Amino acid sequence: MLSSSTSTLRLRPTGGPRRHPPPPLSHQFRSAAVSRRLPQGAAAAVAAPLRSRPQRGGTIQALDAAQPFDYESRAAGLLEDRQRLKIAIVGFGNFGQFLARTFARQGHTLLAHSRSDYSSLAASVGASYFQDPHDLCECHPDVVLLATSILSAEAVLRSLPVHRLRRNTLFVDVLSVKEFPKNLLLSTLPPDFDVICTHPMFGPESARDGWDGLPFVFDKVRVRDCPARRARAEAFLNIFEREGCRMVEMSCAEHDAHAAETQFLTHTVGRMLAMLELRSTPINTKGYETLLRLVDNTCSDSFDLYNGLFMYNKNSTELLNRLDWAMDSVKKKLFDGLHDVLRKQLFEGSPHALTTTNVRK
Ligand code: NAP
Repeated sequence: MLSSSTSTLRLRPTGGPRRHPPPPLSHQFRSAAVSRRLPQGAAAAVAAPLRSRPQRGGTIQALDAAQPFDYESRAAGLLEDRQRLKIAIVGFGNFGQFLARTFARQGHTLLAHSRSDYSSLAASVGASYFQDPHDLCECHPDVVLLATSILSAEAVLRSLPVHRLRRNTLFVDVLSVKEFPKNLLLSTLPPDFDVICTHPMFGPESARDGWDGLPFVFDKVRVRDCPARRARAEAFLNIFEREGCRMVEMSCAEHDAHAAETQFLTHTVGRMLAMLELRSTPINTKGYETLLRLVDNTCSDSFDLYNGLFMYNKNSTELLNRLDWAMDSVKKKLFDGLHDVLRKQLFEGSPHALTTTNVRK
């Protein structure tokens, strides 16, 4: 079970006098997402334990009744606290930092670890940086977020001293392929850990103006049937829901089948166009500007990322073959048309053509 003494979900500083007993664990990770689904709303959910609490002069029946303390705003504060997670980002490169900025803005406690030294960058978003993964794990994060490259994921995961984490830690990955990390996490992590595989289908370029309306794919691969664990999973997913992401729950296999087309194809075309070194011209059409943007959007990601999309999605090879076939088909259609015109000129159009025809005979 989660220990409120080590978690950032602690409702008050340790050592201070407790005015009330802590709420049951089932309340501790209650997310706004879950609460929004409750008919009475989030405030009612939080208020429930407060309402039944005996007060001087009788029981408070409603939040808007006159109260000795401002319970309503306290309740709102408690809800925020219950949402707050201690998240360790492993792989603090381009995408890890991008996510960290939003996590920090929402008030989560952030820890970070990477191969390179990002201590000053981490400090700039309020994250504690740990060069040594042992120190990171000993901080007992609620969530470990794997944001390393696809190619290095296995080595990085195996380098983590997971025995130093709490027994029920939630592992989340954000790799752009999904079946590979799912199998890796399930085969590498202790069976007590929860696992959610996710793919935010956007990046620092495409989401530079916010995440509103952008797809966030997730698969709750293993979330144990315990209220606190379910609520913690919801609290994590709620980070993206609060930003307005379009939440798409789908299996890792389904994701990879779709992503070969939506993502690998997009990146491949972007990289092919980049080889052409396209430049802006005085007569750009809208379509051409779309192509220029595609090059920018795809080539700002590392080649490792693109290579990972190919290496670790079994559907990518077939997609490349189809792309070859499509290019050949389009070329064939053009050249067949050209040959028809030439043949007509050669065989029917001129005296030379006759000569040629005779020669052929
Ligand atoms: P990336 O090139 O895929 O990954 C860079 C990260 O991987 C850095 O943290 C880097 O650590 C680490 N890394 C690379 N090789 C390593 C090695 N041999 N050993 C240890 N660590 C290594 O670029 P990214 O854009 O930051 O993506 C990170 C993850 O997010 C990837 O899995 C990607 O698929 C996923 N993702 C990215 C986007 C996006 O738009 N960029 C969107 C969704 C998901 P150092 O920096 O410390 O060297």
